[in-house]
Amino acid sequence: MSNLFALRNYARKSPSALPQSILFSSSPRSLTIYDSYPKSIFHFLVLPRVEAGSSVGIDDLESLKTLFAHGRESAQHVLNALNEDAQEVKREIEQEMQERYGFKWPIWIGFHGAPSMHHLHLHVLSSDLCSERLKNKKHYNSFNPKLGFFLHIDDVLSWFDSEPSYYHEMIKLDQKAYEKLLKEDLLCWKCEAPMKNIPNLKAHLQEEWDKVSKREKVKAERKRKLEEKQTTESERIEKKVKLDD
Ligand SMILES: [Zn+2]
Ligand SMILES: [Zn+2]
Repeated sequence: MSNLFALRNYARKSPSALPQSILFSSSPRSLTIYDSYPKSIFHFLVLPRVEAGSSVGIDDLESLKTLFAHGRESAQHVLNALNEDAQEVKREIEQEMQERYGFKWPIWIGFHGAPSMHHLHLHVLSSDLCSERLKNKKHYNSFNPKLGFFLHIDDVLSWFDSEPSYYHEMIKLDQKAYEKLLKEDLLCWKCEAPMKNIPNLKAHLQEEWDKVSKREKVKAERKRKLEEKQTTESERIEKKVKLDD
């Protein structure tokens, strides 16, 4: 990654100063950018901005860890806002999926337990992990939704409703412990089959995705035929009614 501070720099800028090739959308509290190293067919990052009048400054927005360290209430405020904006991004991805592929598939929203870039960023990505940019074990394990390194936003938000002891344990965000997870063996996130190496994993993920795509296309075709049949049937009934008159 070329500039570890790139995200922080974006978050400090006015959205209008960002090129269209980077910026996807913005709100007063966040910016959504295209991930420049997409690990799935769709992959965006939602970055919090410093809000006017807020006690949460740019340094508090460094990571999940610093955000929680700043305070529970402000962390909840920032994370709820990020989640709302990410849900909007999700809706837009789903629309694009429908237009481009004729069906939609699940979308993951979450943080990395141990981030590699400065400034908090919420990943919003489609559940396929089919991308040229996915090149090594670390890349894959950081997005494997079952490994524990990828922290789903719903899980993070649930910490606020948990027992105080659990909350305090989770917000420690022990970076070393998370980084260890990246070295775990490769397993398909979908069927849990062990994978010998990255080329095997990538071929397998492609097969998993092709299966989904094939199944969804059959479903869409079946639906189209059914609708066609229903229109011809109602036309026939209409004609019959006219003849009976
Ligand atoms: Zn990240
Ligand atoms: Zn599999």
